[in-house]
Amino acid sequence: MAEPSYIRIPAATLEAFIAAIFEGAGCDAAESRRISTHLLGANLAGHDSHGVVRVPRYVEWHQAGFVLKGQTAEVVTDGGCFALLDGRFGFGQTVAPQAVELGIARALQHGIAVVGLRNAGHIGRVGDYAEAAIRAGLISVHFVNVAGSVLVAPFGGTERRFSTAPFSVGVPLPGRPLVLDFATSLVAEGKVLVASNGGKALPADALIEPDGRLSGDPHTLYGEYGQTGPRNPANGAGAIRAFGEHKGSGLAFMCEMLAGALTGGGTSGPVEARGRIANGMLSFYVSPRHFGTEAEFHATGRAYVDWVLASNPASPGEPVLAPGDREAATRAERLANGVPLTPDTWASILAVARQLGVPAPG
Ligand code: NAD
Repeated sequence: MAEPSYIRIPAATLEAFIAAIFEGAGCDAAESRRISTHLLGANLAGHDSHGVVRVPRYVEWHQAGFVLKGQTAEVVTDGGCFALLDGRFGFGQTVAPQAVELGIARALQHGIAVVGLRNAGHIGRVGDYAEAAIRAGLISVHFVNVAGSVLVAPFGGTERRFSTAPFSVGVPLPGRPLVLDFATSLVAEGKVLVASNGGKALPADALIEPDGRLSGDPHTLYGEYGQTGPRNPANGAGAIRAFGEHKGSGLAFMCEMLAGALTGGGTSGPVEARGRIANGMLSFYVSPRHFGTEAEFHATGRAYVDWVLASNPASPGEPVLAPGDREAATRAERLANGVPLTPDTWASILAVARQLGVPAPG
């Protein structure tokens, strides 16, 4: 498939436009800005699957009452260095930062903190939360699941059992942060969404048909769909595959256990049983300063990063990268040159804006 011709929109213009759309949908200015900044941040990081392509679906969920504006996460349990919050189906970009702020504050107090969050609307790019912990000088580990969303076949199976269950680790080396952040599915669902909108094609083995055939065709997940408009994974017969064979499948399993079962938000499973899908997240925060090894950690960690990256590249001209490097480079490029969007993605955002009476940027 030929690459589509991308439209480049300046980051600030796009951020303001998306915020206006959410204000048009009834969110207050602060929440609208949080959602747009987060979605734009995903585009800037190069994760278009979790960027503004989500706007039509977010607005639809909001209008259907699946996700609620203006929520404050409720504290269910508070044990000082651990806590459990209930996001009450608020926008993930509102309730996840509340959980992360609490985790950071408690880890700065106690040296370590564990914070569970359940019933959050889609929290988007999980690396955003690892980056918030890095800014506070903290290591963080985030296990995430999507309760009620079954999209991924376990290793050795063809039927959907897991959500795309992302996992992220942030490491605060001064001037050289590391951010590992990925879905445990071979591709994030949003990448299937992007491909279905004419964006980057999927690997040919990303999906699996009910009869076990591997596929790279978004129809395996979405069934029939039009050129623009929402995609519904409930309409497809196939599944996304877990990454990394039995190992990635095992990590997805653990995301469901920790972020879903332990938080009480629930695991992936038939959505009819829950009424709506929601993210769960179990986050661990560690303060190297409290550990008493901060100076060694910074020096040894930095030397190790340099040594790893000095490895001879397997392909000439493609140097070894550390987790987070690709995102940092893409961010710098897109801030300078604008955010590329496929014509279909841009058309679907303009259609939502029109529906809400929000003028397009001039
Ligand atoms: P991906 O496959 O692009 O992997 C990204 C990770 O791999 C990053 O840590 C990146 O720095 C690293 N990486 C990429 N290229 C590298 C290279 N050449 N060398 C070394 N490291 C490299 O990510 P994905 O699985 O498509 O996930 C995309 C986003 O989707 C993530 O931000 C994730 O949090 C998000 N997500 C969210 C949900 C949710 O429910 N909220 C669900 C699934 C995924």
